[in-house]
Amino acid sequence: MSDLHNLSVKALATLLQTKEVSAVEVATRFLARMGGNPHNAFLDIDSEVTLAQAQASDAKLADGTAGPLEGVPVAHKDVFVTQDFATTAGSKILSGYRSPFDATVVQRLRTAGMVTLGKLNCDEFAMGSANENSAYGPVQNPWDTARVPGGSSGGSAAAVAAGLTPAATGTDTGGSIRQPASFCGITGIKPTYGRASRYGMIAYASSLDQAGPMARSAEDCALLLSAMCGADLDRDSTSLDMPSEDFSASLNSSIEGLRIGIPKEFFGEGLATDVRAAVDGALREYEKLGAKLVPISLPRTELSIPVYYIIAPAEASSNLSRFDGVKFGHRAKDYTDLVDMYKKTRAEGFGNEVKRRIMTGAYVLSHGYYDAYYLQAQKIRRMIADDFQNAFKECDVIAGPVAPSVAWKFGENANDPVADYLADIFTLPASLAGLPGMSVPAGFGAQGMPVGLQLIGNYFKEAQLLNAAHRLQQATDFHLQKPQGI
Ligand code: GLN
Repeated sequence: MSDLHNLSVKALATLLQTKEVSAVEVATRFLARMGGNPHNAFLDIDSEVTLAQAQASDAKLADGTAGPLEGVPVAHKDVFVTQDFATTAGSKILSGYRSPFDATVVQRLRTAGMVTLGKLNCDEFAMGSANENSAYGPVQNPWDTARVPGGSSGGSAAAVAAGLTPAATGTDTGGSIRQPASFCGITGIKPTYGRASRYGMIAYASSLDQAGPMARSAEDCALLLSAMCGADLDRDSTSLDMPSEDFSASLNSSIEGLRIGIPKEFFGEGLATDVRAAVDGALREYEKLGAKLVPISLPRTELSIPVYYIIAPAEASSNLSRFDGVKFGHRAKDYTDLVDMYKKTRAEGFGNEVKRRIMTGAYVLSHGYYDAYYLQAQKIRRMIADDFQNAFKECDVIAGPVAPSVAWKFGENANDPVADYLADIFTLPASLAGLPGMSVPAGFGAQGMPVGLQLIGNYFKEAQLLNAAHRLQQATDFHLQKPQGI
């Protein structure tokens, strides 16, 4: 089977269960493709660990104790802590760090039988929109290696697009699953805040961080999401007291009569014409499938940028205080006393964007500015969430672009952090509201670069999103297209 690396999670799972292929064979194929670390997608690989997991999977397949995804490979964004691989969150401050435990999401996918291929590159502490903020170098977009893969889950998106893994995990605080999925032509879903446990996910902004799967299709995302979700109350106090669901069960349901809300604020001036054309094309497909397009308004869309870029850095400045050279990773070599050690360790260990966020966060939380910035932002955050609830009175799901443009070239925004912040405009609102959102391949724009359609659902409506995405993928083949040579 020469095209193992192009098979879906579902197809691989079936071949493994029927023993047409072994887990070791599958793992060996992917490990061979990962040789030389194409696109700089991986940060840690250990073929011995992977092959040992694959052997254990083969034993379970043989004795009838196999999980539903037994032997199917997966790779994890480097913000999920893992016992068997190093975890750096893309930061120098964690170089060489090894966790004494696995994140809940990692552990659940192992329980379902998945074999870990390694850890994936990402923006440092998941702060970024282009993967240019990784301390271990940028990730290339497999569709055009001169372009960014998106961020912060850039390694995850590039690895799936390049056939280095059939599926990956990502995290989404303000768009980090959806935007790289869009830029790399794959499918990704961020579930409702609280659906997937944050235990062992290195915290960026705790009130926003959420894990989710990235794969080629909605069908594959559904399989992983079912395994990832579920209550973890003892270990994550914001985990929802709600069992996971079989997200595959309603993939094929009819979407006849589905009301798709089209927010006018998502189709304004800043939207590139090529992205608009692809998104419009996908919406026409939905009409053909019997869905109804309903004009809606999300009036505070623009405010989501300042609100997010106050709240996320505020939480980050607190979360990142634990990296001080005492407990984890890097420690400065020469220092005079404890405070000097903290200062030097943090100055050496954090990259520029992380330092910028810590400083912004500390500023907006400081006495005298708290009311003017942080408190104000929290109030508007609430109004943004209310806007969505108003919109959901008129529609079932919301659709629009994921990002205002296709993937940009390396260096284009590198010295202009605000340009990256502005490009997050369409993903931030759902994050601030805690709503599930996904990116579905919708066609191609300028220079043949992929364009994603964003679907946003109401709380706990992941199954409805995946159903809508799957129906589109039954009617189109955008998600099956691959970069040249893959
Ligand atoms: N680009 C956004 C940021 O830099 C979102 C990142 C994310 O979702 N982790 O914060």
